[in-house]
Amino acid sequence: MPSTRARLLIMNAALGPLDYRVPAGMTVEYGSIVVAPLGPRQIMGIVWEEASLPSSPVPESKLRPLLAVVDVPPITAELRRLIEWTAEYYIASLAGVARMVISSGGALRGPATMTEYRLSGGLPERMTPQRERAFGALEGEQATIRELAGLAGVSEAVLRGLVNQGVLEPVEVDVDRPYPRARHDHNAPDLNKFQAEVSARLVEAVEQEEFAPILLDGVTGSGKTETYFEAVARALKNDRQVLVLLPEIALTEAFLSRFEARFGAAPITWHSSLKSTERRRAWRAIASGEAQVVVGARSALFLPYANLGLIVVDEAHEISFKQEDGVRYNARDVAVMRGHFEKIPVVLASATPALESLHMADTGIYEKLVLPSRFGGATMPAIHLINLTEEQPGRGAWISAPLRQAMVERLERGEQSLLFLNRRGYAPLTLCRNCGFRFKCPNCSAWLVEHRLSKRLACHHCGHETAPPETCPECGEPDCLVACGPGVERIADEVAEILPDARVALVTSDTLNSPEKAAEFVAMAEGGAIDVIVGTQLVTKGFHFPELTLVGVIDADLGLEGGDLRAAERTYQQVAQVAGRAGRGAKAGEVLIQTRHPEAPVIAALEAGDRDAFYEAETEARRSAGAPPFGRWAAIIVSSEDDAEARMAANRIGDTRPNLDDVMILGPAPAPLALLRNRYRYRLLLNARRSAQLQKVIRQWLSQVDHPPGVRVGVDIDPYSF
Ligand code: ADP
Ligand code: ZN
Repeated sequence: MPSTRARLLIMNAALGPLDYRVPAGMTVEYGSIVVAPLGPRQIMGIVWEEASLPSSPVPESKLRPLLAVVDVPPITAELRRLIEWTAEYYIASLAGVARMVISSGGALRGPATMTEYRLSGGLPERMTPQRERAFGALEGEQATIRELAGLAGVSEAVLRGLVNQGVLEPVEVDVDRPYPRARHDHNAPDLNKFQAEVSARLVEAVEQEEFAPILLDGVTGSGKTETYFEAVARALKNDRQVLVLLPEIALTEAFLSRFEARFGAAPITWHSSLKSTERRRAWRAIASGEAQVVVGARSALFLPYANLGLIVVDEAHEISFKQEDGVRYNARDVAVMRGHFEKIPVVLASATPALESLHMADTGIYEKLVLPSRFGGATMPAIHLINLTEEQPGRGAWISAPLRQAMVERLERGEQSLLFLNRRGYAPLTLCRNCGFRFKCPNCSAWLVEHRLSKRLACHHCGHETAPPETCPECGEPDCLVACGPGVERIADEVAEILPDARVALVTSDTLNSPEKAAEFVAMAEGGAIDVIVGTQLVTKGFHFPELTLVGVIDADLGLEGGDLRAAERTYQQVAQVAGRAGRGAKAGEVLIQTRHPEAPVIAALEAGDRDAFYEAETEARRSAGAPPFGRWAAIIVSSEDDAEARMAANRIGDTRPNLDDVMILGPAPAPLALLRNRYRYRLLLNARRSAQLQKVIRQWLSQVDHPPGVRVGVDIDPYSF
């Protein structure tokens, strides 16, 4: 334990490690979060092992004293090792990774109560448009002024005005108030034979308190959740904390009610849109050990658990576990490493595991547990292809005759249909019939997507939005703009034409953008108030609607285009997952897949329901390409607001490339999104043999090249998209 001097990992990445004196009367440990002086400012740091944080020696007499220790438990050794590993593996700065741990807690210093505001019921002296807006938006909300301003889309000054008039009233929130306790024995179900076997092993793994990476491979509807809930129950019984990572916030509501039914209390949720008071409350409860179960998005992985006993990554194949900016990490892989450092089991649950995960299981590195059949006698759905080259829908239509017919029959029988198209909005491209002008994002190399419901043209990369004009901005012609191609909104319109009496629900991140809306949708779909669901990848997972007997895939070929390294795998997973929504109850399900390439191996495997055939073929393709899991990929992305500057920087890196036998280096070339958020992007790709020391090579290489301040160089280890 450091007694007289302490080395700090500083949260500002621009500053290296700094040494301080521990003043008499202050006790710090490795992992303590402390406040230190820096010039006239105060900074936060974590007391770190000197050996793992080299720094140039400073004489004792030059050291300034630490100012305070923040009153939260020290960051555990296990989490410190995880921070170091993550920075090392993903070629990120230690400070950047540590910041994900610390700043996620919000204002860690300060009093245990915080002030939130809510409408008091009174009216302002004078109604202005801004105030009216705030009134409409803040009904039923309670949060800090800053958060309310964000919710209402008005300035904080407007809201402070309302506070002064008593229209918004303060509420003191006790940040450290306890959470309701979950009970391991509250409402345990009877498991079937397969579930019982698998859960016995999971429970055993929790008892053993050793690192155990486990792939829970079970077909859709096999009851994976109930099965791993038994492991959760055992951890609860043993007073160990549990982390369940879920890919999508919109899904959590259904999950939370299931959890509450089983354990008698809701778990703590963790995601990016938490209010600051909730953030701080959860962070502290997790660090003190009071929190029992945390259900969260990938960022929940970096929370300071006091005594973690189990990690579950549900839908572990999902790409949203990959963080694409800041520290580019894959939460699935980091979860396994956290399990390794904490010496606990990590369960990766999926019906369509990533090829990498299956390979780890096949080579004995992960243990594999299998649930081979659906729970309660439900059968797997029948799958048929519709060849779009033969069954062409009419002009401006995307639903073929056989799919229409099947939907009509479902409606007549009072059953539900689901149509899947992984494209938000109404149409992916808008052009002028007269002059050929196309609406493009000013900040990105991407078309603007028409969102007819919100009457916007929007960029899905940077968020840029404009209202669709009446006339063409190029030639000035009126009524000449045409929507090209379908998005889910357009498919929903087509359904309304085919089935005018059907109750249609549109499910995308635009419509299901809050937990309340997600819960409302689930309740309506379960209660039979919806006949047809039209949705993006949001509908492919998690949902369990017993009356849903038909799934239609509008365009199975969509995912096969574009620069996705795992395009075939992704297509397989998405279609198999959405297919898995059909026939989960007593009635059998049917899946109709529209495609122009029925002969493509992945489509053929889907039709045959032959998962092994698909994985075998894909494995061979990866092996011969030296792709993961047989080789490794990395990307170096060089960007600047100035195109020439970015290109020159990328060329400088390219010119100093190391010449190695086990790493092949391609590029630089313009990145697939050559312009993104006003930055020009160039990219180098590295394909390495497994034996290569990829990270070391990249670090050494990049450290030799200097760039002007406007250039950013990012590294993506194990990238998902090219
Ligand atoms: P998966 O996650 O494998 O797709 P789920 O865990 O969602 O499957 O289970 C499918 C359905 O079967 C759910 O409605 C679930 O409540 C039900 N179910 C699974 N196992 C049991 C059980 N042992 N007892 C009662 N219902 C179960
Ligand atoms: Zn854009």
